Amino acid sequence: MTHIKYIDGILHVEEVDIPSIAREVGTPFYLFSASQIEDNFLAVKNSVASFGGHVFYAMKANSNQAILKLLFELGAGFDVVSGGEYQRAKAVGCPGDRIVFSGVGKTKDEMELALTKGIRQFNVESFSELHLLNTVAGKLGLIAPIAVRMNPDVDAETHEKISTGKAQNKFGVPITRVEEFFQVASGLSNVNLLGLDIHIGSQITSLRPYEKAFGKVASLIREKNLQISRLDLGGGLGVTYHPIHDNPPKVGDYSQLVRNIFGDMNLEIEIEPGRFIVADSGILVAKVLYRKKGENRDFLVIDAAMNDLIRPAMYSSYHEIKPIRESIDKGNKKFDVVGPICESSDTFAENRNLPEFEPDDLMAFMTAGAYSTVMVSEYNTRPAVAEILVKGDKWACIKKSPTISDMINREIIPSWL
Ligand SMILES: *Cc1c(COP(=O)(O)O)cnc(C)c1O
Repeated sequence: MTHIKYIDGILHVEEVDIPSIAREVGTPFYLFSASQIEDNFLAVKNSVASFGGHVFYAMKANSNQAILKLLFELGAGFDVVSGGEYQRAKAVGCPGDRIVFSGVGKTKDEMELALTKGIRQFNVESFSELHLLNTVAGKLGLIAPIAVRMNPDVDAETHEKISTGKAQNKFGVPITRVEEFFQVASGLSNVNLLGLDIHIGSQITSLRPYEKAFGKVASLIREKNLQISRLDLGGGLGVTYHPIHDNPPKVGDYSQLVRNIFGDMNLEIEIEPGRFIVADSGILVAKVLYRKKGENRDFLVIDAAMNDLIRPAMYSSYHEIKPIRESIDKGNKKFDVVGPICESSDTFAENRNLPEFEPDDLMAFMTAGAYSTVMVSEYNTRPAVAEILVKGDKWACIKKSPTISDMINREIIPSWL
């Protein structure tokens, strides 16, 4: 997280100090470092270049147009999981041959959209999807390029809600039926089965599950003599949320593993990192409203809430909390950090050792760039927070917060009421 650091005791993103942005845009807001996104992306891109790999950024982690534009210019393709995301890729000028379409529930309309505007491949997750895609492509007189997503039945050793490669998960074709999938696909005239695809989960912090899953893929290709030219290895590379507990693998070690397992197979390899590219580039900045003494706990009530950052409530995830002014009395006090929403799940941290924050002090939730802004809701009629991008000494608002009247005016009272 080299681009988000204290300079003269004040937390900065690149060369911009956070209090000056807070004064202009008001809290809470998200703040991103463009240089950090670039560094992360280029680290992956350069590392997989050693085996001719291509990077398709999984935009569901953060699909702001400014961030997509930045990544596209650096050479990224995109992994999309909806027609909406497909159109986001198109809106930054991405050609179809740099887009892969993943997801377990593609609709007929989404298939038509991608087929007519161009697609590198659909990652197909079931026999029924295969048949529908063949029908849709046939009606358009086109041939759909596809890979089959297989479920390797491997434990990604991550949070159960973001584990996707076990047999009981909804994703992919069971490994035992992949050969049959090839047979069925070869009998269909409007699909062209080019490759295999897996994605076993997210926030993977050990190489072990990758090693197991990739090993199963390699054995399957060899044993069944599958005729493929592409291999999509999915995303999942973990990041450091907790400075002590999270120790994710290095990108170079991941690439080495891929080379070791698939190096001699002459396959075009694709990877789909999301979180790794954006997580540590972003922070959520909030302000302390109240310090409140409970019966046996001390609370910091802040002006951000679970609708702004849902990861702690949804996945019990940890975000490091840093004061914007480094000099705040370090103290030795434990706080619960909570938002204003009327649910006990609106809690960012429990019993956390924190400095002695006082009302009006600013705090940053670190490593908040992935699966954060994209999950913002307007629960409690709280406007979706603004997003700011910093590059060097420049900053710009890349997503405006709606006004309350914008929000109210989106709703319609029927004339018959
Ligand atoms: C979510 C997802 C990704 C990205 O996962 P990260 O953990 O953010 O890298 C990649 N591929 C598919 C199919 C996904 O669903």
